[in-house]
Amino acid sequence: MYGRVLGLANLGFMVLDADQRIVFWNQWLASRSGMAASRVQGLTLLEAFPALSGRRIDQSLQSALANNLPSVLPQNQDRTPFPLFAAGTWGGERIEQSVTLTPFNEGKERFCLIEVADVSNTVDRERQLRGQAEALRAQSYVDGLTGIANRRHFDVALDRELRRAQRQDGALSLLLMDIDSFKAYNDHFGHQQGDACLTMVAEAFASRLQRPADLAARYGGEEFAAVLPDTTPEQAVQHAEVIRAYVESLKLAHAPEAAHAHVTLSIGVASFDKERLNDARTLLEAADRALYAAKHAGRNRIVIGQPA
Ligand code: GH3
Ligand code: MG
Ligand code: MG
Repeated sequence: MYGRVLGLANLGFMVLDADQRIVFWNQWLASRSGMAASRVQGLTLLEAFPALSGRRIDQSLQSALANNLPSVLPQNQDRTPFPLFAAGTWGGERIEQSVTLTPFNEGKERFCLIEVADVSNTVDRERQLRGQAEALRAQSYVDGLTGIANRRHFDVALDRELRRAQRQDGALSLLLMDIDSFKAYNDHFGHQQGDACLTMVAEAFASRLQRPADLAARYGGEEFAAVLPDTTPEQAVQHAEVIRAYVESLKLAHAPEAAHAHVTLSIGVASFDKERLNDARTLLEAADRALYAAKHAGRNRIVIGQPA
């Protein structure tokens, strides 16, 4: 009965003796290699598969037989060691294999069992899942590190709100903020703590925006942005001041080389103006110029941007 079971198993089984001669070869291997047991029995593994010479499996087999060491061949190195093909098809692509070697003793003799599993489906599925995960990330609107909106979300929201402001002749403001001396923070505390700091500042900033239509986003690196619909320049400055003061009040220790003892933000404000600041590019440029001016004036402050 054992022989029958081994013939039915959905797994390749071969047994080699201490001289690497094939003494057992099941039906699964026969139908995927095109070689019946009678053809390979008595051949060494390398006689049956000369291309395996010097490959990882050859080394693993030697240490299995010499030192009684079992092993699982790492799949990232060689996924298709044996020339095996989907049953009944000759040629085409080799099936992807997971191979384990298990030495055992029978009386005084050492043997090695080699099991070969077809993992083509698993590998395909993994590949598919990885592809899907990447596609989802690319479509995502959330910044992976901080959890607030990402740049793509910001761009879409700014565009949408600009069109609404145009249509309704309404107010719309934009904040662009940048952590002060953040390079010094990273240099002093390390990149990982830098990431943690970015996340804390992002959460603090986002928590100060109260209206559902307000959008808090990570604009890039250590820069954040907010889209504030129905918000006049005066109101935007008030919001900016709340955010600036709140981040300062957290008293997150900064690097000794930084301009201030605690982590602070500089903020540039720009507001929609039908004549001169009426598209995303000019608004962002105005906010960016204001931010630059805030840095220049000593950081940890707010500047209102004017049209160029
Ligand atoms: P300033 O006050 O003028 O803004 O000075 P700064 O040092 O903040 O400005 P700079 O643009 O020179 O440096 C920004 C630093 O932010 C450099 C970069 O290593 C760091 N940074 C950008 N993105 C990330 C991030 O995702 N994680 C971490 N840890 N650091 C980041
Ligand atoms: Mg910066
Ligand atoms: Mg900075």
